[in-house]
Amino acid sequence: MASALQAVRGMNDVLPDEAPLWERFEDTARAVFAQYGYRNIRVPIVEPTALFVRGIGEHTDVVEREMYTFEDKLNGESLTLRPEATAGIVRATIQHNLTYDRPQRVWTMGPMFRHERPQRGRYRQFHQVDAEALGFAGPDVDAEQIVMLARLWKALDLSGIELQVNSIGNAHERLAHRKDLIAYFERHADVLDADAKRRLHANPLRILDSKNKAMQAMIEAAPRLIDYIEDASLAHFEGLQRLLGDAGLAFEINPRLVRGLDYYNRTVFEWVARSEDLGAQGTVAGGGRYDRLFELVGGKRNFATGFAIGVERMILLLASAGDRTTRVPLAYIVHDGDAAGLLARKVAERLRDEGHAIVVNAGGGSMKSQMKRADASAAHYALIIGDEEAATDTVAVKPLRSKGEQAAFPAHELAARLQAMQSTKG
Ligand code: ATP
Ligand code: MG
Repeated sequence: MASALQAVRGMNDVLPDEAPLWERFEDTARAVFAQYGYRNIRVPIVEPTALFVRGIGEHTDVVEREMYTFEDKLNGESLTLRPEATAGIVRATIQHNLTYDRPQRVWTMGPMFRHERPQRGRYRQFHQVDAEALGFAGPDVDAEQIVMLARLWKALDLSGIELQVNSIGNAHERLAHRKDLIAYFERHADVLDADAKRRLHANPLRILDSKNKAMQAMIEAAPRLIDYIEDASLAHFEGLQRLLGDAGLAFEINPRLVRGLDYYNRTVFEWVARSEDLGAQGTVAGGGRYDRLFELVGGKRNFATGFAIGVERMILLLASAGDRTTRVPLAYIVHDGDAAGLLARKVAERLRDEGHAIVVNAGGGSMKSQMKRADASAAHYALIIGDEEAATDTVAVKPLRSKGEQAAFPAHELAARLQAMQSTKG
């Protein structure tokens, strides 16, 4: 026998017992986004590597060491499994000329790939739900996205997810800050870890985002970008805060919030869950404004703002909140003999016409073993059809989850009878 193959490290199977949580999350997100006028867009999982190098930035963790990049064997083109969806969406809207003459609200969901050290809440294949508003200067649309996320948490019955916001200004403002920041870090070179030293000249802003505890006090006292931000960016940030206040949302201004990707400007935000289940992986959604990205990937200047939700982290939260959403069939049909099989399939299709979920026993088996499967299916009822029932066009109904006697009904009355039993069950 050949050795059993395993999934690639950091890439997970979602098994049927867990899938209902995923479906509930996805359905809820889809419904809430539609309420705000967001329309679905789907872009490829593989894109030209240059899209991410130019869009996300050469000196980011993602591009420097987290991308799955490979060469197309036929033409040598460098391709990458997408580490995020925003760059692909922007590429698609440029390519199909979707947005310059009118703004667009779009959303997508799917797998992303980053070569990180796997741990709870951090994987190599993970999933994001992603929304982008293209062509709006904001801050109204920035605030609207944050409000939309608050509505999503509420629709999922999740509390304790806290909002952090910041403004990282524009490129010119960051440049002034950067000079002082580098000088400050150089004065504290003894506390910098290897990562920070490497980033010192390439991407000093990212040092602020370090999770190294030994550097926190030094980072806390570093020059603050917010003090370098000029009137227009400040007005945008104040506008955002006013709009969030109007919407009744509590938020914290986190001056060290800079986000992992280079393309952001002005608004950045994160929603952080204070949950023991997530530990350091508490950020469940992050986003902000990226008005430069269109130009970086070869388009015309265009305003844009968006966010991504980490789906695995949401699922961990939903599971620890005790979400036990399951979808069980109404009935499992147990049948024996050719005539019974015929009636079983007919009855099942009729009940499905009424919108019910019905599982018909397949693969034969004794009545006893079929009843075991009925029980294991978690169905509310077993519908039993033997020779006698088949001959009289009746079906025996046995409640599996509640007390109650087995009773036989004419097949054509079954839908109404089940409906009545369901509503009197209490
Ligand atoms: P982190 O600082 O945790 O690495 P990030 O800044 O790299 O996050 P983003 O690129 O902003 O993350 O992605 C948005 C969200 O996607 C994150 O807030 C998180 O919930 C989720 N996410 C990012 N990387 C992973 C991963 N490797 N595994 C699982 N979820 C992830
Ligand atoms: Mg990361």
